[in-house]
Amino acid sequence: MDMNLLTLSFRDRIQEQEFLSDYEHHFRLTFRIALTIGILFYAFFGALDVYLYPLLHTDLWLVRYGLVMPVLVLAAIYLFRAGRHTRTQEVLTLATLVAGLGVVAMTVIIPAWARNTYFAGLIIVMMFVYTFLRMRFVWACISSWLVVVAYEVASLEFGSVEVRHLVADNFFLISANFVGMAACYSMEYDARRRFILMRELHSERKRISNVNVELESLNTMLDRLAHHDDLTGIPNRRSFFAHLTEEWNRHRRFKASMSLVLIDVDYFKRYNDTYGHQAGDECLKQLASLMLEFTNRAGDQAARIGGEEFVLFLAGTDLAEACELGKKLRRKVEKMNIPHTGSLVADYVTISAGVATTVPGENLDAEDLLKQADNALYEAKEAGRNQVVCHTLE
Ligand code: GH3
Ligand code: MG
Ligand code: MG
Repeated sequence: MDMNLLTLSFRDRIQEQEFLSDYEHHFRLTFRIALTIGILFYAFFGALDVYLYPLLHTDLWLVRYGLVMPVLVLAAIYLFRAGRHTRTQEVLTLATLVAGLGVVAMTVIIPAWARNTYFAGLIIVMMFVYTFLRMRFVWACISSWLVVVAYEVASLEFGSVEVRHLVADNFFLISANFVGMAACYSMEYDARRRFILMRELHSERKRISNVNVELESLNTMLDRLAHHDDLTGIPNRRSFFAHLTEEWNRHRRFKASMSLVLIDVDYFKRYNDTYGHQAGDECLKQLASLMLEFTNRAGDQAARIGGEEFVLFLAGTDLAEACELGKKLRRKVEKMNIPHTGSLVADYVTISAGVATTVPGENLDAEDLLKQADNALYEAKEAGRNQVVCHTLE
């Protein structure tokens, strides 16, 4: 902890300010309760005044209830009303100083032989200031040492005390003060250490939560990488098979028909050879975004399952509809009019498509449907490319 160990204050001004505000907040209830109890005790000792010195008690009461008590009560009112960042410490210092001075005044009022009774009161006030009240070290020292000074002055000026006794008193008073200081110092030191630890804990929590946010976004990214195709951004082969299996089961439950449109670019190797691999990539991206236009129903999916092979999964779609969509897709590819001088079927890029439809049953699985679509695609290629062949899987 970077702080001035003599005055107990952090060297960093902002940190000190934050600590003070935190301290006030933390001990607000303690200040209130302790001062209230202090007032009650101070008032209660008035009974002793009457019991011990019936003839002097009016003078003692004048000091106790006439001078000290109003200040203590005002301080209490202030404490109960004050919000944060107020002059709590100054007010407590003033109040305890007045309480101490009151006791000093009483030691002067009573006969010299009886001084010890009220002298003990001074020690009580000091212990109260240094510990129970949780005043800050510096302020508690100011209050208590001023009372010590006042005691010396009052004893020498007004009291008829022997020097021997005064020296003896000082042994006790000053020792008590040092004991109180040590207690107060260690309590405030602990409060400061607690403050630093809490701050570290807080920033550590913040760091962890930042790391969590980062991890989450990395996870999302990883998830994307695992399930989507790098080049086109649409679902990849692995993702497609997971989707197909899920949909297969769903359609089997509802006895609904579902279809696949498997497409393959015609003479794509020649396309790469003619225009270069990068142009080939661009062409694949265009095809992928075109296919996305065909996924309209819930459950539909377009995926890239091979180099220049794509598949369109159509949920709740029968053969006629799927075939129609396959043909529409083929026409749209034609309409994109991507030049392909290397093709043997047209001057532009074309696709062949195999469509397969089924109502999922007990004896078949999703792989069978894909195989059927693959057969249809093969037939489309064999029949001369740039066409769509449709099959039903029974
Ligand atoms: P067919 O009409 O019989 O389908 O002829 P094809 O040339 O398209 O068939 P083949 O399967 O022999 O060639 C596919 C070509 O697709 C081979 C490869 O160069 C190309 N290809 C595969 N993946 C990519 C890719 O990610 N980017 C590019 N630019 N080309 C790819
Ligand atoms: Mg191919
Ligand atoms: Mg091909």
